[in-house]
Amino acid sequence: MNVQPKQVKPRVESGERPTLTFQQKRRGKPPRHLADLDREQRRALVADMGLPAFRADQVSRHYFDHRTAAPAQMTDLPQGQREEIVSQLLPPLVKKVSEQYADGGRTLKVLWKLFDDAVVESVLMGYPDRATLCLSSQAGCGMACPFCATGQAGLTRNLSTAEIVEQLRLNMALAESGALGESVKVTNVVFMGMGEPMANYPAVRAALHRMIDPSPEGFGMAARHVTVSTVGLVPAILKLAEEGLQVTLAVSLHAPDDGLRDDLIPINSRYKVGELLDAARHYFVRTGRRVSIEYALIKDMNDHQWRAELLAAELNARGRGWAHVNPIPLNPTPGSIWTASTDRATRTFVQTLIDAGISTTIRDTRGSDIDGACGQLAAEVVDRDNVARRAKQAQEAVEARLAEHRAEPVDLADQLAVMEQGRK
Ligand code: SF4
Repeated sequence: MNVQPKQVKPRVESGERPTLTFQQKRRGKPPRHLADLDREQRRALVADMGLPAFRADQVSRHYFDHRTAAPAQMTDLPQGQREEIVSQLLPPLVKKVSEQYADGGRTLKVLWKLFDDAVVESVLMGYPDRATLCLSSQAGCGMACPFCATGQAGLTRNLSTAEIVEQLRLNMALAESGALGESVKVTNVVFMGMGEPMANYPAVRAALHRMIDPSPEGFGMAARHVTVSTVGLVPAILKLAEEGLQVTLAVSLHAPDDGLRDDLIPINSRYKVGELLDAARHYFVRTGRRVSIEYALIKDMNDHQWRAELLAAELNARGRGWAHVNPIPLNPTPGSIWTASTDRATRTFVQTLIDAGISTTIRDTRGSDIDGACGQLAAEVVDRDNVARRAKQAQEAVEARLAEHRAEPVDLADQLAVMEQGRK
């Protein structure tokens, strides 16, 4: 029998639970853009302009194949109409405000300003022969996770499909022009920047099509190289499973027990761990795509060996080989009172999962020195002092509640029984 060796202690006596926000603070819509439309809609729009429909395909190929929105480069369009066509189909949506390099020039974080001055960030990570882009799906985020800088800033608004796709196109152009040292292609995309993609489902779904569908419909990327990450909006996971898209699903779990996850991931108050893992397993069954389980290791918070055993038991209870666990040392937000697990605790956690037959890989923390790692986007964008203060308050509140309810060591068998009960 394993017992919990230590749980973090309270810093304050009480604290309010964070509030989930699905309501956007801003409602303005960005201008309509080619990437908002599917092929037929683009052709109809061009026909409405009194032009042959094939012009839409020509512009789409420039956009998706050559990553350009510059009329001068579209020499197959009639010279006198290029400006007009491009202004109708490709209005500027995102503007680079600043860029920051890390990891010896192999990681590039870009701050983008949108039409209404909302800001989002993307992180481009270069590898020897390819690049991965981490992009944003919302300006801010309403999920209020207490360890995450973006969550402390709240939700400003959902991004449009084209605002998401533009982050990809512009980063593709950067990577191909040698911004990371040598010209590389962006082969992988992860929705792990600002925002909860499943809370902006229609725009994200359409953006996935632009990424995956072949030219002139989209970029023609491999679906399995596109990862949608969620903290657990179960209905949206079930919906995505039926879309016929072979994208990878990543579930940010961070705790295998509702007792802790209710506090660490506020959406857990609606969708419990058991329900979330059932939905993740369903996604695997419907798509054949192994699900990634993301687990930020926080010192003395969620890194106990009994939690690794519980996580393994919960995954194995739903079958073998359907999930892969990615523990990742926490990247503390500004002002955070939480920190990453020790190397020893990390090794024990990982080995426990592996011993239980769970495929497990520690994820690297590229970009952590520029606040470009997960949970850190937006730390630069919003008032850092404010983010730091709110992060500290949120974390102290969690610790207070944990101390109140879980001061006693927890028995693994008891935990499993509770989880089992919850599923019935
Ligand atoms: S961890 Fe993800 S879902 Fe949670 S607040 Fe941060 S961006 Fe939102």
